[in-house]
Amino acid sequence: MRRFEGRTALVTGGARGIGAATATRLAEEGAHVVVADFDEAAATETAERIGGRAVRCDVTSRADVEAAVAAAAETGRLDALVTCAGIIRDNLVHKMTDDDWEAVIATHLRGTFLAAQAAQAHMTEQQSGSIVLISSTSALGNRGQANYSAAKAGIQGLAKTLAIELGRFDVRVNCVAPGFIATAMTRQTADRIGVSFEDFQTAVAEQTPLRRVGRPEDVSGVIAFLCSDDAAYVTGQVIYVRGGP
Ligand code: NDP
Repeated sequence: MRRFEGRTALVTGGARGIGAATATRLAEEGAHVVVADFDEAAATETAERIGGRAVRCDVTSRADVEAAVAAAAETGRLDALVTCAGIIRDNLVHKMTDDDWEAVIATHLRGTFLAAQAAQAHMTEQQSGSIVLISSTSALGNRGQANYSAAKAGIQGLAKTLAIELGRFDVRVNCVAPGFIATAMTRQTADRIGVSFEDFQTAVAEQTPLRRVGRPEDVSGVIAFLCSDDAAYVTGQVIYVRGGP
């Protein structure tokens, strides 16, 4: 399938994990992809591999985000925005520092807002576009993640509100909420709780109806669907990608 021929996509946090899988999938289907990430070297590596462009971008910075969106729009179009940049700073609420709270809210909630705000300016003018925001099953509550679950629930509210506001411009906004996906982020959780990544994955797989953990490609396929015209009448939705209900 070449659903994104002649189209431009911007993927924040696109250097690795779910973002890199998404950048790869969109490029494979013909998109020109701009990979925006904190880590410029990793972003460049991913962009070179898929024939896209890398931009160093801290999503908490309005200037960086606006520059990344402008770089993507240099092609004359901006058809898709996928916001994958993310961090975790897990701690039980009584141990959570202001810094843990602020860093996670700034990266996920502010970062997602800034990217969506900058992208919609181009998309509304163009009268088309698809924005996919990455939430999480943690939006439903998860021990040790007061900051992260609040941010991820907020992202769902943001998506639904933007879907209402931007629908008349044919700009769609949806959320993908993954469960456990094997990436550097979940490896970091395994390290923090002191189990091997392999044992952690085995334990999660046992609790998952599909009896395995997710791969970044399990998520990027759903993101690509939402970015594509196959989802032309889908907006304001949250799709859980968690190997179970
Ligand atoms: P990774 O850690 O593999 O990738 C996240 C990427 O975001 C990294 O390249 C990271 O750069 C980058 N990043 C972090 N902070 C910023 C910032 N301020 N500005 C720009 N880029 C930044 O994580 P995943 O691929 O697992 O996660 C992708 C998204 O999916 C996140 O939003 C995450 O919350 C969400 N998610 C992940 C799940 C999972 O199980 N893995 C489950 C549910 C949701 P660097 O490495 O340099 O920090």
